[in-house]
Amino acid sequence: MRTYPLEGEERIEKVIRACKLCYLGMADENGRPYVLPMNFGYEKGVVYLHSAQKGGSISILEKNPQVCITFCTDPGLVWQDEEVACSYRMRAESVICHGKVMFEEDFDEKVKALNIIMRQYSGREFSYSAPAVRNVKIWKVAPDEVSAKEFGVPSKNAARYKDRAQF
Ligand SMILES: Cc1cc2nc3c(=O)[nH]c(=O)nc-3n(C[C@H](O)[C@H](O)[C@H](O)COP(=O)(O)OP(=O)(O)OC[C@H]3O[C@@H](n4cnc5c(N)ncnc54)[C@H](O)[C@@H]3O)c2cc1C
Repeated sequence: MRTYPLEGEERIEKVIRACKLCYLGMADENGRPYVLPMNFGYEKGVVYLHSAQKGGSISILEKNPQVCITFCTDPGLVWQDEEVACSYRMRAESVICHGKVMFEEDFDEKVKALNIIMRQYSGREFSYSAPAVRNVKIWKVAPDEVSAKEFGVPSKNAARYKDRAQF
């Protein structure tokens, strides 16, 4: 599979913004991994997430705030020769971020974070009741390490190349 590293903040941000979901990995005190699918928002290099105030993930993060977040765009199946299995591949872009979760407690900052998350999905902002804001847990991750890659790019020499939108 051809893999190309992606560089530049704008390019990486474009991949993250194209995703509907992220996968957030953490590890408990025994090193046991726990990965959750989560909705997210992204602004100025910070990933914003939200959850209930309590749960298994919160208990883990209180002891070990280190996380790895993976984003992957919707993949498309592509191939160069329909009859050759090893010419099939998935075309997609993905980003991996490492960092520490910080819980935001300030009311106004929580509202800002909720709107950043809502903008990712709806393109707009909302108003929230005070109990709704108080009851939500806001997670912020400013990654200290980011990598991005593009997968399944066809060879320039490909005589035939097909991109099937749905599979
Ligand atoms: C598309 C999607 C988007 C989501 N977005 C969010 C979000 O933005 N915020 C949010 O808080 N949650 C979100 N969730 C749910 C999230 O994945 C967790 O289930 C939730 O956060 C509870 O995690 P917890 O560790 O507190 O679970 P707990 O209630 O402590 O879980 C108890 C046990 O249930 C199992 N479990 C927990 N979650 C899952 C799961 N997702 N799939 C299978 N088994 C599970 C585990 O074995 C766990 O040990 C989303 C789920 C999906 C599918």
